[in-house]
Amino acid sequence: AAPASASASAAASAAADSDDCCAAPLPVLGRDVLVPLVTGGEVGYAALDYAASTPALQRVWDDVAAYAPYYGSVHRGAGYLSQLSTDLFENSRAAVAEFLGCRPGDQVVFTRSTTDSLNLLAAVLPADCQVFVFETEHHASLLPWRDAQVTYLNAPRSPQQAVETLDRALADREPYGPALVCVTGASNVTGELWPVRELAAAAHAHGARIVLDAAQLAPHHPVDIAGLDVDWVAFSGHKLYAPFGSGVLAGRSDWLQDAEPYLAGGGASRKVARRTDGGVDVEWHTTAARHEAGSPNVIGAYAVASACKALTEAGFDTLIAREQHLIAKVREGLAEVPEVRVLSLFGDDAPRVGVISFVVDGWNSSHFAAALSAEYGIGVRDGLFCAHPLVRTLLGSDAAAPGECGAPDAAPGEKSLNAIRVSFGAGT
Ligand code: PLP
Repeated sequence: AAPASASASAAASAAADSDDCCAAPLPVLGRDVLVPLVTGGEVGYAALDYAASTPALQRVWDDVAAYAPYYGSVHRGAGYLSQLSTDLFENSRAAVAEFLGCRPGDQVVFTRSTTDSLNLLAAVLPADCQVFVFETEHHASLLPWRDAQVTYLNAPRSPQQAVETLDRALADREPYGPALVCVTGASNVTGELWPVRELAAAAHAHGARIVLDAAQLAPHHPVDIAGLDVDWVAFSGHKLYAPFGSGVLAGRSDWLQDAEPYLAGGGASRKVARRTDGGVDVEWHTTAARHEAGSPNVIGAYAVASACKALTEAGFDTLIAREQHLIAKVREGLAEVPEVRVLSLFGDDAPRVGVISFVVDGWNSSHFAAALSAEYGIGVRDGLFCAHPLVRTLLGSDAAAPGECGAPDAAPGEKSLNAIRVSFGAGT
């Protein structure tokens, strides 16, 4: 078990040593409970699966708990609690707009998640819209565009190649109509940063629009919708230190307003009346409410806003400095194990966030990840990370991946068919 021990202790020491640098981690829920629960208190528990879901910040939980006794119906009630909840919901929207640096006229729609946000955008595409997406995307960015004409772009091997590939594809498009580019800001597999500003410039130069999947970027870096000049941004609360169940789609309002509501129902409709022919006429809202039919997830929206404020107050410069320190330590530890191969699309020196995937020669990734948990109290993820084409490209494997996001691994000595991922951030 030499490779497992060496690699595991490298990762464990990276987690243990994290306090000796720059700044303290942001307080998150769960440390006190998890250490004795998982390991009987003998060693610490290292939650290194932040790319899947971050623990909630203590501050977010406290904010939600303080508000919980006072919540009431939103947008519908005349009572004090209803007014309080409505204010809280709309102030949360404003806080998210500020966090993202939204432009005047941008809308912030509360959704369930990044997946939900991108499916909402897919539902409001204008007729004949062409969509351009790299094959390297998370499935949430790769798959929602089923009703559009989609061009899947080959995996680039450098940020510059990404821009050139997009530029060429957009220049070649026939006919020249509405187009949307969907791109991830930071990869959920390699952690590598994508050249979002340059891709946005290329998209706009060819009359296309661009949506940024910021699920992995927003917890690690400031996302400035105006500065990056992207048309929309999508992210998830549960990857940004808020609980599950809330997400955001923010950006230009025109396509959102011109389309039918994502869900039809109360809240999205301004006026509904019977027609003389027996049917029903509906006038839909033109604000974000158009796509938020039904009673909204007020607590979720409030939690997202609280997390946005907490990250901003902690200061992204401080958080990034700390995270880069952790990245260097983990990579140093992994480099000491000859059997470990770290996966990268853009090369070792590419700027990245705290998401690192690797394979260990001669090891089944699933068994390796299970051993990290059972023997060392280190929680990681194994599989293809809902980015099957990208992981296959990185592993140099054409293997099909049965099952959901995971896959069975190769027999000892064969090429690995799935990978191990460690991911961390401001709460680590
Ligand atoms: N985009 C990226 C880059 C992701 O990493 C993920 C989740 O891992 C998603 C989108 C989907 O997020 P959610 O499951 O919250 O919808």
